[in-house]
Amino acid sequence: MFEIEGVQRCIGELRKFLYREKKQVNNLMINEIGKEQNTYVQGEYFGYKDLYYEISGKLAIPTDWRSGRVELEIYSSKGEWDNSTNPQMKVWLDGALIQGLDVNHQEVLLPQGVKDKGELDLRLEVYSGREEKQFPIFINLHLVDERVRKVFYDLAIALKCCLNFEKGTQEYLAYYPVLDQAVRYLDYRDPFSENFYEGLEKCRQYLKEKLYQKYDDIQLQPQVTAVGHTHIDIAWLWTVEQAIQKSQRSFSTVLKLMEEYPEYEFIQSQPQLYDLVKAHYPDLYKKIKARVAEGRWEAEGSMWVEADCNLTSGESLVRQILYGKKFFKEEFGKDNEILWLPDVFGYSAALPQILKKSGISYFMTTKLSWNQFNQIPSDTFHWRGIDGSEVLTHFITTTNDGYKPSEHFTTYNGILEPKAVLGSWQRYGEKEINDEILIAYGYGDGGGGPTRQMLENAERLGHHLPGMPKVKLGKALDYFRRLEKTLEGKEVPKWMGELYFEYHRGTYTTMAKNKRDNRKSEFLLQSIEKIYSQLDPIHYPKEQLERLWKLVLLNQFHDILPGTSIKEVYDQTDKEYELIFHEANLLAEKGLELLAEFHMGEADSLMVFNALGTKRDSLIEIELEAGYCLKDYGEALIRQKVKNGKSLILVKDVPSLGYKILSLEKEQKIEAATEAVVAPQVVETPYYRLAFNDMFEITSLYDKRAAREVLPVGKHGNRFVLYEDLPMGYDAWDIDIYYKKKSYIIDSLEKAVLVEDGRIRKTIEIMRCFENSKITQHIHLYQDNPRIDFETWVDWQHEHNLLKVEFPVAVNTLEATFDIQYGNVKRPVHTNTSWDKARFEVCGQKWVDMSEGDYGLSIMTDSKYGYDVDYQKLALTLLRSPMDPYPNVDKGMHHFIYSIYPHQATWKEAKTVDLAFDLNMPLMTCRVKASPTVSIPWLTCGVSNVVIDSVKQAEDGDGLIIRLYEDQNKTTMAPLIFRGLVKFLYLCDLLENKIEELNVDNQQAQIKFKPYEIQTIRVSVTV
Ligand SMILES: [Zn+2]
Repeated sequence: MFEIEGVQRCIGELRKFLYREKKQVNNLMINEIGKEQNTYVQGEYFGYKDLYYEISGKLAIPTDWRSGRVELEIYSSKGEWDNSTNPQMKVWLDGALIQGLDVNHQEVLLPQGVKDKGELDLRLEVYSGREEKQFPIFINLHLVDERVRKVFYDLAIALKCCLNFEKGTQEYLAYYPVLDQAVRYLDYRDPFSENFYEGLEKCRQYLKEKLYQKYDDIQLQPQVTAVGHTHIDIAWLWTVEQAIQKSQRSFSTVLKLMEEYPEYEFIQSQPQLYDLVKAHYPDLYKKIKARVAEGRWEAEGSMWVEADCNLTSGESLVRQILYGKKFFKEEFGKDNEILWLPDVFGYSAALPQILKKSGISYFMTTKLSWNQFNQIPSDTFHWRGIDGSEVLTHFITTTNDGYKPSEHFTTYNGILEPKAVLGSWQRYGEKEINDEILIAYGYGDGGGGPTRQMLENAERLGHHLPGMPKVKLGKALDYFRRLEKTLEGKEVPKWMGELYFEYHRGTYTTMAKNKRDNRKSEFLLQSIEKIYSQLDPIHYPKEQLERLWKLVLLNQFHDILPGTSIKEVYDQTDKEYELIFHEANLLAEKGLELLAEFHMGEADSLMVFNALGTKRDSLIEIELEAGYCLKDYGEALIRQKVKNGKSLILVKDVPSLGYKILSLEKEQKIEAATEAVVAPQVVETPYYRLAFNDMFEITSLYDKRAAREVLPVGKHGNRFVLYEDLPMGYDAWDIDIYYKKKSYIIDSLEKAVLVEDGRIRKTIEIMRCFENSKITQHIHLYQDNPRIDFETWVDWQHEHNLLKVEFPVAVNTLEATFDIQYGNVKRPVHTNTSWDKARFEVCGQKWVDMSEGDYGLSIMTDSKYGYDVDYQKLALTLLRSPMDPYPNVDKGMHHFIYSIYPHQATWKEAKTVDLAFDLNMPLMTCRVKASPTVSIPWLTCGVSNVVIDSVKQAEDGDGLIIRLYEDQNKTTMAPLIFRGLVKFLYLCDLLENKIEELNVDNQQAQIKFKPYEIQTIRVSVTV
């Protein structure tokens, strides 16, 4: 009885002798940075939230210690859990930053050169953390007994291995007798005496012979490649500013431990962080660069930041990778091959193709192990996207003792110790085809990455030990390359379509303002690139556009765009988006003026630019002086005075990626605004007959062209429903499955008024107040457009509630189609399986559609992403109101538009995509002095299923890059017709590398598309 406990107690006792001597470091001064100094007292509590302190003075190394191992121990607490908000520190010795310190890193090993100096200037910078509490700092100097230290680790690690196994098992019996004998050599009677050291040596030798070296020739065990890592959230419970400092501290710690452990290798993704470290801490950056060059610091990951993949547009994902890979290549000479996204909340089915076409062969994550209901059945598999592209995917299966939201939970912040190593292997699913797994170990978010303990563990676990996988320190890319080889010729599992995350479903909606700003910035920057691509290249604002894009990309980080950061983060993003819109609008105006210069003239005119690759009729809303009208070649355009006093004008036939210059002319007829009248309960347009109930919910929507009713009998359209939204754990992140149990229909009505009734549209204004919140809505019904727009303002004051708008649809279908990046996915509208049930809230980009054989309804939005679908029902999630980590995150005014589009045939024939683009990319206008004209389209595509998505200058300045995609799952030959003469045209990958030159017939080329294929071409065209 208690045999192993006895061994354990004996090993614990050895810990007492780790230090030959200890000294407190005193005679130091302390001050809040920039303020007066006081005497520093060991253990005295000080500090408040978010402040910086400095502790400084002389550090003396006793003469007789200098040949020994001397450690400076600095800590605030021995027992606190690493919650990434504890005080974090940096240590300077004689003016040189030597290391970062945090809960997990409390010792600085003094290098020989430092010890030799005898007396040094010590400077400690303490960041208090984000919690409102006081804390002490303890500073000690230790003379470590190196021989004790080594034996202690030998014993402790062997014991930990032993404890992984049941008593009496073969594995247990391979450790226990060895440990039992080994501790018998330890003689504690006279510490540090000759007998003591003799015992230590015998113990060490015995362990070596009977355990650590005994099995080294056996080749059977599975292997673990362990790469050091620190996952740093660029913003979350801290600002970007603080993340830069976290990086400085953690990277300094990594570099220091690299000096001590020559085998240690480390991976870090996110060029954005490197770029910030480079700007703020150039010396540190130089050291990192040297380690990258040496091959021990792995600069891998591919994306500019580890971005959200649900809400970002296709072009944004491409830019994340384009700028990410470019940075790694230019700065470190590394061509990235892994998409490293351990912590992102779901993975779009567009990703495999984007990766394949960006030269990325491998994908790594762990986050899907947090799924609430179902586990992805494989950890190593080929992930196939909507177009059929495949990418080798591997989930890190590292288990942890700590936080576990589900029993399958695995982590990218691995603790490299025997239990986790064994657990990772046991948890791994594809043992039959692969016997090597990957662990990323080290504390994240300012936790300093790997610890000395982990590196000592790795050294010992690098031997073959009974029952344990063998640990090898290495790099992720080498791991993936070996994995690919291992899998050759084997039956590798496949996963097709999206990697939906069964968790954090609130992130499609929380922090609505950022979602809107992100969507608007994406489209605006793309539009500007399209304008300048039509001008002489000398005008192209390349650097400015790159800077603005990078701000957009930064704010797509997986805790910023999802809405899961603190208030201070969003105070900053508000400023950044304001800057983006300000600069972008100026750029747009200047670009349009330059375009107008091609049409010399003095007439007061209006330039109308169409950034879409399809010719369209669309509306513009401008200030028009009284007595003026717009004419298109002498013909006055239809206009309507709208409620805000502006003029709404219908402009027809604006060419694809082209423009019209309209003349501004005097008109005798004075335009009158509509007198507002009580809204009628039945409204008719050329397309529909709508009936409202007393609450002004839609009770009938009759489609005159199709001669049918859109809503199921007895159901109400445009119904607002409020749900109680009290998630179990992560307030800003989650909508939990039970949220529908408590719902409240918002059928209050303050007023319903017909505020516009003109040649372009009828507009009904509806106002609803509920508790302290208020919805004002303009329902726009057009004479010339089958879309019905619901322009909505919400003064949102609720807490822990969710606002949805619902549209029942009388169509018989089991699935709905959702717009995603570069294509679309179908999802079921039923809950037949646990997988379907888990998708009770899903994300979509610009539109969603529910159709039966020849009829359906599309819903489009200008800034929303959360949907839920049921049999004959589409619902759009408009707003949430979580309270943590940012209390009242969404309180205040919101403005957004959603639209419905009842259509005949399917969404493909009905051109839902064009209407959704029209909603998101309205015509751009600018007052110019020029002659009226209609431009020839700059580029047209002869088929309707290919979208011309992006036109930009090539990164190297040689020609233009045009990105197109097929979005109806059809093999297609797309004729492209350019306005200018084409000098060359190459098919490229997404990184703009030329693949093949294509024949061009003056202004025409044929581009082949596979279903859902993204094609990138590089062209030179005459202006
Ligand atoms: Zn993260």
